[in-house]
Amino acid sequence: MFSPSTVKCTSLSSSDIVIAVGKGNAEFPLKDIEKYKDTTVLDIGTYNGKRLVCLNLPDLEGGVPLRTFFSEAEPEIAHIAILAAHLSWWKALYKYCPKCGKPLKEHNFERCMTCQACEENFYPVISPAIIVLITKENRILLAHNTKFPPKRHSLLAGFVEPGESLETAVHREVMEETGIRIKNLRYLESQPWPFPNSLMAAFAAEWESGELKPDGVEIEGAAWYASSDELPDLPPKGSIARKLIDSWIMERHTAIFAE
Ligand SMILES: [Zn+2]
Repeated sequence: MFSPSTVKCTSLSSSDIVIAVGKGNAEFPLKDIEKYKDTTVLDIGTYNGKRLVCLNLPDLEGGVPLRTFFSEAEPEIAHIAILAAHLSWWKALYKYCPKCGKPLKEHNFERCMTCQACEENFYPVISPAIIVLITKENRILLAHNTKFPPKRHSLLAGFVEPGESLETAVHREVMEETGIRIKNLRYLESQPWPFPNSLMAAFAAEWESGELKPDGVEIEGAAWYASSDELPDLPPKGSIARKLIDSWIMERHTAIFAE
């Protein structure tokens, strides 16, 4: 069982359980820990009574892609991988005080870094983002983002901007990327997504008005699909996007069967 604790930099000892992260991969538990003995690691909690540490290995060759971890690992192990990936990113970035430039050190009891000179505290940075499943009658909106692999389509998503509520961000992203208005927005669930530090808030909404006009910058193509249509390449399992799309397909199949 995993119990998180305050992050501390410590030295790896042979009795530790190690999660290694690097190159978008994770290995848990890291097998060959002897060669990293006395390396600096992040102490992130306990696992089955043993100290659990994270080792950031930029040249990690083994392990499993983090995205695969989320789809295949037990929820508790996936949680450990998410935490380890997010904290190693944050720890690698926050070495010096953004305010005065002096070195940061671990806080005595909180999960944050503190400045040795001005004593300002810096907590792990989390970037909120939204994702929304939009339907029009019995069809779902799937779009191709220019950053996706060639045929991949998914739900609309984007980062929340300063001053916005989550709901405002959904309406803005949908309008900016596809030119449509939505209604009946409702919150569904959330998922931490450590690429590198997002927290995805998922919503469902219905089309209200407007023709689909992809912005051509972030979104290259967008269309309405029925569950009986041949669907394009979807995001991998483990992502909240795929979970929402799969749930919608299941709901539609159940509804069609009942008709
Ligand atoms: Zn400072």
